[in-house]
Amino acid sequence: MLVDNHNRTINYLRLAVTDRCNLRCNYCMPSEGINFEKNDKLLTIEELSRLSKIVVEQGIDKIRITGGEPFVRKDLMVLLRYLTELDGLDDISITTNATLIGPYISELKTLGINNINVSLDAIDRETFERITRRDLYDTVHNNLIRLITEGFNVRINFIALENQNTQDIIPILELMKHYPVSVRFLEEMPFNGGSRSFDALSWSYKKILEHIKTEFPDFEKLPSPPTSTSINYKIKGHTSTFGLIPSFTRTFCGSCNRLRITATGDVITCLYGKPVTNLRDLMRSDNENESVQSALVRVLNKRAKTGFEAQKQHSSVFQSSMTSIGG
Ligand code: SAM
Ligand code: SF4
Repeated sequence: MLVDNHNRTINYLRLAVTDRCNLRCNYCMPSEGINFEKNDKLLTIEELSRLSKIVVEQGIDKIRITGGEPFVRKDLMVLLRYLTELDGLDDISITTNATLIGPYISELKTLGINNINVSLDAIDRETFERITRRDLYDTVHNNLIRLITEGFNVRINFIALENQNTQDIIPILELMKHYPVSVRFLEEMPFNGGSRSFDALSWSYKKILEHIKTEFPDFEKLPSPPTSTSINYKIKGHTSTFGLIPSFTRTFCGSCNRLRITATGDVITCLYGKPVTNLRDLMRSDNENESVQSALVRVLNKRAKTGFEAQKQHSSVFQSSMTSIGG
């Protein structure tokens, strides 16, 4: 079992399988001039599989596949098939922009990969295009509805962005009210790879909640697991639920159970920290899985207690893009 120096059990890995993406969301990366990693710096599917097995042996029982956009990776299903065979891995989840998932939905269903987070920050086509810098709203909407109606456990991630999409907060709750889906509103974080300046948070989770209250005053708080990053609610009469994720306010660090590994094998023990070690070169130079396991134990023994502490250790952390961190 992996336990950090603050006695938090780490059983959840967010594994980025690529830093590439077919969208250019303005809160995540600039429109151009992005330095994507060279192909040989990215972990191969065999390496991602080996790494997954290693961490599952250390007690990781949940892996979320993220990126970049996971489905730009043509060999993604090879990894997913492997993961479904791993003893001890109870939960395989995916975070996706849902532009490319269509052809894979049937196989995901067959594999029993049921938990899909779809990032969708607008329900107005023009707003969507302004944010993502691509004209793919219809594709995302169709795939989202398909996933929901085919019985996947879908959560929508909607980042509240000042002067961009907050007019869609109430409409997305209206649009989803008859679907068994959770709409989660996230605070914006400053990881946009220099896409635009970020001076202060405009839409905190409290402000989002106040805004929702003006239209839907009648809602109840739902119980959430202790390691959950979202505070969840149900509006009276709605099938859907909604959640608030204080990703910038960081109220959830005390129970953080997660580890991040980027597509190049960098280990990130806190979203607000810098990579603490790289496993790719270690894996390529050493066939012993124990070396990787020891490296993980070592870095988790020096883990920052909170995102604020991690942020203080590195002045340049906000130059990163979420496409390399994985969210
Ligand atoms: N491409 C996939 C997607 O968009 O779902 C997976 C990778 S994306 C980096 C993972 C998550 O990070 C998405 O839900 C996205 O909305 C979120 N994200 C990206 N940049 C962010 C930022 N600056 N602040 C808050 N969340 C961000
Ligand atoms: Fe791509 Fe996801 Fe970043 Fe948008 S948030 S640019 S979809 S990686």
